[in-house]
Amino acid sequence: MHCERARELLSPYLDEALAAHDRSLLTAHLASCQDCTKFAVDLRRLTRTLAAVGRQATPPSLLPRLRRALADAQPPVSGPPVRPPHRPRPPARTMPWRALPVLAAAAVTAVATWWLLSLAEPEARLQHDVLAAHMRALLQENPTQVASGDTHWVKPWFSGRVDFSPSVTDLSAEGFPLLGARLDYIGDRRVGVLVYRRRQHTIDVFVWPNPDGKDRAQRVVVRKGYTLVTWTRQGLTYWAISDLDADELKTFQRLL
Ligand SMILES: [Zn+2]
Repeated sequence: MHCERARELLSPYLDEALAAHDRSLLTAHLASCQDCTKFAVDLRRLTRTLAAVGRQATPPSLLPRLRRALADAQPPVSGPPVRPPHRPRPPARTMPWRALPVLAAAAVTAVATWWLLSLAEPEARLQHDVLAAHMRALLQENPTQVASGDTHWVKPWFSGRVDFSPSVTDLSAEGFPLLGARLDYIGDRRVGVLVYRRRQHTIDVFVWPNPDGKDRAQRVVVRKGYTLVTWTRQGLTYWAISDLDADELKTFQRLL
């Protein structure tokens, strides 16, 4: 096996995804080639470093891609590919792996960036989905499927329609009358929506189960002239949205 081929096979080898035949050829090559052994050690170290970056595991597709990029970026492997095996390799042609720490640092930076983006992205997507669903509902003649301000009517309406039980509160006395409820889709999940009114403004409260079960304090986001308030309580995630100003919506959230 030539060094070039060996480098190609290292990534699947480290992922334990190499077929038995290739694996035995590669291990034989590694046993006789110091350069490729050094490369394999560096690659394994890099893999561990990458995996340790951030709290989330790196996506499975990222590591092979990075390894390939690193392998491509390496100085040419020492020695011509068709070297007679008995001839010792000339020491002058042995390349040091000076490039690797720099490339590894760049790769780690790339993964750290990916990690931050992966945290920010679902949140941005959620905001977009909530905003889109709210605007869709506003365009319809009736934003509710069950039109009632009676909590004893609205709460049971959800049973059998969603697999959780949102708490339904009437806030008419506080100036936020309940109009009713509907079902909607956020991402690919079916969610419950409670619809309230404040003067001529509609407030949608999207509710769905929160898998990690942790409570989270309210956060306020203003997007495209709409205010969004999100919080998590008793295993449910809430997103309230309206064109009310942030203070009024925060008051509404506290009452809820
Ligand atoms: Zn080699």
